[in-house]
Amino acid sequence: MNKPIATVARTNEILKKFDLYAKKGYGQNFIVEPGIVRKIAENSKGSDQCVIEIGPGIGALTEQLSLIAKHVIAFEIDDRLIDVLAYSLADYNNIEIIHKDFLECNFNEVVDELKKQYEKVVVCANLPYYITTPILFKIFESKADIDCITVMVQKEVADRFCAIKSTKDYNALSVITQYLYNVKTIMKIPRTIFNPKPNIDSAVVQFTKYTNEYEVENESEFFDFVKGCFKQRRKTLYNNLKELGKDGEFVKECILACQLNESIRAEACDLKDFVRLYNYWRSL
Ligand code: SAM
Repeated sequence: MNKPIATVARTNEILKKFDLYAKKGYGQNFIVEPGIVRKIAENSKGSDQCVIEIGPGIGALTEQLSLIAKHVIAFEIDDRLIDVLAYSLADYNNIEIIHKDFLECNFNEVVDELKKQYEKVVVCANLPYYITTPILFKIFESKADIDCITVMVQKEVADRFCAIKSTKDYNALSVITQYLYNVKTIMKIPRTIFNPKPNIDSAVVQFTKYTNEYEVENESEFFDFVKGCFKQRRKTLYNNLKELGKDGEFVKECILACQLNESIRAEACDLKDFVRLYNYWRSL
């Protein structure tokens, strides 16, 4: 029986066998701490379900996902890794590796196909940090039926996703994600568990679907509205909203009708305030 891929010894053996080095351009940092990889898989809500992974690398997380899930489908962009994965994951028969840039896949189609066979589909990945936001927004905006997304990201990005109002990390990304999901950081990850070691710490964030009590008419318009409110962080909400093409009197009326202070900044408004503001803005 082989040691887990995420052990230092096994990772080194695989890297050596294929004369492989981590490609910075693809955001490659391989986890070499089996306990952590196991814990991420166990927390993915993928037990007996189907898991989509983005960026399997040499298979450290893929292996642990395969042990808990019915099926794992993993998208890998780096052609060098396709043979490596065939070797490292040869003992597992519930893994499908797709050699493709995840950003190029038709995510709705992929999930619709999987839902024909599996009751639940979840996403679990140690994301390439250079494209964390595009990957997550591709999933968020797809409207595919995904129950849970568990991803390792840069710690600062995790802090932004989870931030509450009036804190330094709070921005449009926090409001938009918290409109769509329950978001929480489930693990903090030190930089020391990677090969090669990045110069930042990481965190595992989990996004779970919930019944949103604040539905808006047009979500993408609402997201643009929120981005507009934060456009210039140091400016007041009034000044940022004026840039969205309405006159000052209207903007003032809108802010006051939502029981907010005229000099308030976007960073002091919570999700409920943004939904109220947007609905009032739209209704006139
Ligand atoms: N899952 C492995 C682990 O935890 O050790 C590797 C994670 S590494 C941080 C990110 C992985 O994503 C790399 O294998 C990289 O080649 C892959 N990757 C980068 N850009 C990608 C893209 N656009 N589509 C699919 N995979 C990508």
